[in-house]
Amino acid sequence: MSLRVGARLAPRVITMIRFETVSKVYRSGNRPALHEATLEVKPGEFVFLVGASGSGKSSFLRLILREERASAGLIHVLGQDLGRLSNRKVPAYRRNLGVVFQDFRLLPTKTVFDNVAFALRVLGQSEAYIHDAVPEVLGLVGLGNKENRLPHELSGGEQQRVAIARAVVNKPAILLADEPTGNLDPATSAGIMDVLRNINAAGTTVLMATHDTAIVNDMKRRVVELSEGRIIRDEAGGQYQTRANPIVTVDDSYPTRADSQPIAIEPLDFDPIPAFDPMSPTSEAIDLSYLDRIGDEPL
Ligand code: ADP
Ligand code: MG
Repeated sequence: MSLRVGARLAPRVITMIRFETVSKVYRSGNRPALHEATLEVKPGEFVFLVGASGSGKSSFLRLILREERASAGLIHVLGQDLGRLSNRKVPAYRRNLGVVFQDFRLLPTKTVFDNVAFALRVLGQSEAYIHDAVPEVLGLVGLGNKENRLPHELSGGEQQRVAIARAVVNKPAILLADEPTGNLDPATSAGIMDVLRNINAAGTTVLMATHDTAIVNDMKRRVVELSEGRIIRDEAGGQYQTRANPIVTVDDSYPTRADSQPIAIEPLDFDPIPAFDPMSPTSEAIDLSYLDRIGDEPL
């Protein structure tokens, strides 16, 4: 079996992610967490969402996950109008999204293998498929030899690699990452970024919220900057900051890449998107909500 994370897209043009004047006001909040945000993300893009704490990054990702609903405006993801997506169809919709968090959120009593396999078992995949797919994806993230470890037997960077493997083993079209390097040192973070870069290179659209100036500057990808819920910058090949808080010091100590390993990705022989059919009778509720809480509060 060959497993590639992400894949070529269906020939028809589909909207990957489109926000049209989207606002989000929480019931308890006074100012909008997001204010009239308009943005389109094309298939295969790698986009950084940057901005100070409280600027609306996690809210943006939660809206894409349909964990929150927009207060105003339109959100289309993978051809779906999320405002019209019924709650019943949300679990099937979410199968197209992988999610990675700052705090990894692994199941502490399960091995590395079983943490990844769990994401497939809840989808009803066969054990034969799991037997092939899990080692492949663990190889992809550079953890081929750690299948039987428990999370507490791994470094933080390795735990995050497991979390990424779990997020992508189901070949999502979109990977959402909320400060995935927030708990990691710079060298380990660089290794995680290599993994995310490879996943993106294989066709998965990546949207990553981060505070990490060095990473954003190093990657030279599209940068969308939020400030108090407003998109104040959207720049291809951008740097972390220009307008909101110009940065005067540049971190020269950054480019150590001790744990970076080039990771080979083989071609996939299937498409992630045709697997998504919200009208399909098999799109029954499978609750992945243990993965679905994006934000600062722990599970
Ligand atoms: P970031 O991820 O950039 O730190 P958030 O999206 O978490 O930003 O928060 C944006 C704003 O929305 C903040 O003012 C925050 O306090 C508020 N907020 C976030 N989640 C909730 C919530 N569940 N209820 C009320 N206010 C919230
Ligand atoms: Mg956040």
